[in-house]
Amino acid sequence: MNANRRILFIVALMLIGLAVATITNVALNFREYGYNNAVEKSKMTAEIVRDGLTAHMVNGMMDKRNFFLSNIANIKDVKALWIVRSDTVTAQHGQGFENELPRDAIDRQVLKEGKIIREVTEDTQSAVLRVTIPYIATAYGSPNCLTCHNAKEGDVLGAISMEFDINDVRQTGAMTIAKIFGINLLFILIALWVTNYYFKPFMKLFENLQRGIKKARMGDFSFRFTTTLKDGGNEVAEEMNTLFEKLDGTFEGIKHDLSTFMTHSNVSYDDPLNSAGMIIKELSDVYKFKKTIELDRTKEEIYERFIYILKEKFHFSHFALYEVYKESKTRKIVYITDHQSFCHSVVDQNALECRAYRTNSDIYSTDFPNVCQNCSPDHKEYTCVPFNINDDLELIFSYSAKGTKTIEELNILLPSIKNYFEAAKAVIESRTLMDKLRDSSLRDGATGLYNRRFMEEFIDKSAEQAVRSQVSYSILMIDIDYFKMVNDTYGHDSGDIVIKSLGEILRSSVRKADLPIRYGGEEFLVFLHNTTPEGALEVAEKIRTQFSDKKYQFGGETVHKTLSIGISHFPSDSDSIWKVIKFADLALYEAKHTGRDRVIEFKEEMFKGGDLF
Ligand code: GH3
Ligand code: MG
Ligand code: MG
Repeated sequence: MNANRRILFIVALMLIGLAVATITNVALNFREYGYNNAVEKSKMTAEIVRDGLTAHMVNGMMDKRNFFLSNIANIKDVKALWIVRSDTVTAQHGQGFENELPRDAIDRQVLKEGKIIREVTEDTQSAVLRVTIPYIATAYGSPNCLTCHNAKEGDVLGAISMEFDINDVRQTGAMTIAKIFGINLLFILIALWVTNYYFKPFMKLFENLQRGIKKARMGDFSFRFTTTLKDGGNEVAEEMNTLFEKLDGTFEGIKHDLSTFMTHSNVSYDDPLNSAGMIIKELSDVYKFKKTIELDRTKEEIYERFIYILKEKFHFSHFALYEVYKESKTRKIVYITDHQSFCHSVVDQNALECRAYRTNSDIYSTDFPNVCQNCSPDHKEYTCVPFNINDDLELIFSYSAKGTKTIEELNILLPSIKNYFEAAKAVIESRTLMDKLRDSSLRDGATGLYNRRFMEEFIDKSAEQAVRSQVSYSILMIDIDYFKMVNDTYGHDSGDIVIKSLGEILRSSVRKADLPIRYGGEEFLVFLHNTTPEGALEVAEKIRTQFSDKKYQFGGETVHKTLSIGISHFPSDSDSIWKVIKFADLALYEAKHTGRDRVIEFKEEMFKGGDLF
């Protein structure tokens, strides 16, 4: 039942209640009135009869009383009338007429008790009031009863019984009730119509507001409505419509703008508010992931985070991650749950056997039975997705429905997972480049360290990333003191031995994340990753002492050499990495000129300004 009908129902109920109360009241009053009226009439008749009989008695005409009584009985509504003598009167004056004997129990009771008895007998056709009134002997009336009757004060001398037809009163009452009922019914109908007329627009407005808010709660702001109400009601409708229009436009815009941030999304757009929240949450998660992996040094660390997210966030229970090397068309397993591959090992030797890699498209087992020939027959439900990293590397992500989730449920998560791969792509590419460069010809053959060319190619990109990731570097510029003398005294080969031994010392003195470089002939650079100035100084001192402790046997002589080291810090000394390298060189120059065999940290006063290069 809607609100309008409910109000009408309540109003109708109240009015019907009122009508029933009124009609009941009228009906009761009418009955009371008819009854009282007849009783009054009976009392009056009783008095007339008593006076008439007394007059007949005084005038000695008692034998003529029947005429008088029959006239009285003809009074309207009097159905029957008779008088009854008491035993006292009968004893004194004889039996009287036959019809003056008690006719029924009521007559006898009244004669006995001296009290009026009233009784109504009614059925559907008739209604009769029977009244029997006693005549009581008294000495105080006029005439004095006791002068003629042989009785004492208070004795019952006789009684008069009458029957009144009160059916008319009853019928009139019924008619009146019918009229009142009709008037009430008419009034109820008019009241309902008026209530409906005035309340319906309000109820309609209320219903529309309710419907609009309900839809808005579900994310649908398209609801608009009108009202016939004036003065306030139409303002409410207009305000509501404007609000919905604004919300509709705003959320549509937010939804559109947010979706541009997400290349892939499985967020449903039915509810823009909810979907905006979900996109923001997903964006935030992907952003945090990206910020984290930017600080990871190797792609293996990034893969580990992927695996963690797939397990913990997306609850994948059986999946694999592969690297495909495009040049050699070979495949390497990065991770497989429980080492149980569901892909044939032939793919490892020939990546073209991988359908996802060869077709560069997502492979869904749900698309076609046995869609990939190289998938184990035990695995009926799986999905394989390729992610291109660069010209050399591609990742293949495969998963199967072996856990609690169905493959369809897992596939729903794929767009979100692709966002993670998308975010990681540049970082994996950069780490791949680093890996490649580490093993390229950009190494110095004699020491096995990276050479100056490597540094020149790589340094700008590394510096940019270091700034972005708030990573710092301390730079050591190292030069062997009086090295020329070794060449000149013991020959070039002896010089080479010294250079190699310094290379080994450098490699063994720094951490994996640090980068030693053979910068020139007997000059070396070391990039110390995220080290404090004190820590850098410590490493430099360690290198210096280790080298100076080293003894060489050249031409039967024991030779030992020393180092001079200059230190600078990036980006605290300068945000230009090349400047910082030059500062390390200036510090080294200072070390040479203050006696060699020492470590000197760059100070601003060493830089006299001007063009460094
Ligand atoms: P200083 O203390 O001022 O550095 O004196 P130094 O003698 O070391 O002077 P300098 O640094 O100018 O000398 C570098 C010499 O190293 C010149 C070059 O012949 C020699 N050299 C450069 N590369 C090699 C190499 O690969 N092998 C050998 N044996 N000698 C090299
Ligand atoms: Mg030198
Ligand atoms: Mg030197």
